[in-house]
Amino acid sequence: MRHVAIVGSGPAGYYTAETLQKADDIAVDVIDRLPVPYGLIRTGVAPDHQSIKAVSRRYEGTALTDNVRFVGHVSVGTDVTIDELVALYDAVILATGAPNDRPLDIPGADLGGVIGSAAFVGWYNGHPDFADLNPPLDAPGVVVIGNGNVALDVARILAKTPGEFAGSDIVAHARDALAGSAVRHIQILGRRGPHQIAMTPKELGELGHLERASPRVDPADLPPEGDDALLEPGMRKSVTHLRSFTANPVAKPVTIDFDFFAMPVALEGDGRVQRVIVERTTLDADLTSHGTGETYALDAGLVISCIGYQTPPIPGVPYEHGRGRFASDEGRILPGLYAVGWARRGPSGTIGTNKPDGARIGEMVLEDIGRGAGKAGRPGLDALLASRDVTPVTFRDWRRIEEAEVAAALDGRPREKFTSIEAMLTALGR
Ligand code: NAP
Repeated sequence: MRHVAIVGSGPAGYYTAETLQKADDIAVDVIDRLPVPYGLIRTGVAPDHQSIKAVSRRYEGTALTDNVRFVGHVSVGTDVTIDELVALYDAVILATGAPNDRPLDIPGADLGGVIGSAAFVGWYNGHPDFADLNPPLDAPGVVVIGNGNVALDVARILAKTPGEFAGSDIVAHARDALAGSAVRHIQILGRRGPHQIAMTPKELGELGHLERASPRVDPADLPPEGDDALLEPGMRKSVTHLRSFTANPVAKPVTIDFDFFAMPVALEGDGRVQRVIVERTTLDADLTSHGTGETYALDAGLVISCIGYQTPPIPGVPYEHGRGRFASDEGRILPGLYAVGWARRGPSGTIGTNKPDGARIGEMVLEDIGRGAGKAGRPGLDALLASRDVTPVTFRDWRRIEEAEVAAALDGRPREKFTSIEAMLTALGR
């Protein structure tokens, strides 16, 4: 028997497990810090994007195969170390994603009301770490920094009416807070221009169909229309959406303004953010931005920085600080230790990008470990955890948590998520 441990039960973890479980004579343990599986699907993908979240059914198919086991509520680093896992398993695969915000390195970034997207997204999606975030929604102005899909998710969630969350699994605390929100002006800052956005067309198009909010683009920021012909088709479609937003009058009560060539350089306020100081930029020949020295101020009681994520380093595991990911040779970190998904590549690509990545790392691991080295594997982990009084949450336990969440749902909602580890364990009678 060969034994593989995957740390992290998000898309990269389960796509890797899907490939591994097809081999014979293998036991795969998918370990997660939370008592609930699926990582970014549960706590990252926007709650109003249920069709994307539905991919968890595929992961469930993998989780229910005989040779895959979910080991929830076990913290690698606290309950068991990486070295111990490497000693117990033929291969340990880090599929820990990139849950930390890339730091916004400007003066005032530590003021109240300045929040990273990991925290804000975790808050509305019920991640236990961010249930108490309580973002201030009492001022009309919000600045969202970044021109990626996360910035779009954040702006859209801030702009939606309670009715527009029908059918979503947004958690109750966020739904209630957003229903009473005073937010009226959302400014999305991009340090480069419309041709350099990292947003995708479907997500941009959604902004054009919001009940009480209109997206707006200043036509002066757009390059000549003929230049769009040089763009790849997806990007061209996105820019077409931006062009359509130039025609929007201020007819709706909430505005979402795209502010291009706009680089935040300081955040000001007395304990809590009140203003964002923005510097105009221009692009160099290599399309990087630099400041022009011209600045202006935007009023904001909440600033959400959506400038990308990074993987938290693990002591003793080689790490690339510039890229915010583990240092690996195509996935091989050290003998017996691998990385997959965002932990390997950095935080880019969609959920589906992890499918070929997981398949490739799964095949690489199978090739590397051969028939296995007779390691202790699963029984060894169980003995170690028992000696430390750690009782893992099984996949069957998770199904009971899920049933309780579904049973608590009202108004046709798919589920009412538990937002604390205590509540999840209480549902199991622990
Ligand atoms: P992203 O796509 O990498 O976008 C980050 C944005 O932040 C870029 O516009 C970048 O501008 C900007 N930025 C970086 N550092 C900055 C700074 N210091 N000051 C100002 N702006 C800065 O990251 P993301 O939005 O977090 O998304 C992560 C991944 O998840 C992406 O692959 C995304 O497509 C995916 N995702 C997909 C969906 C979906 O499919 N529905 C939803 C959410 C996320 P520059 O280009 O100038 O560096």
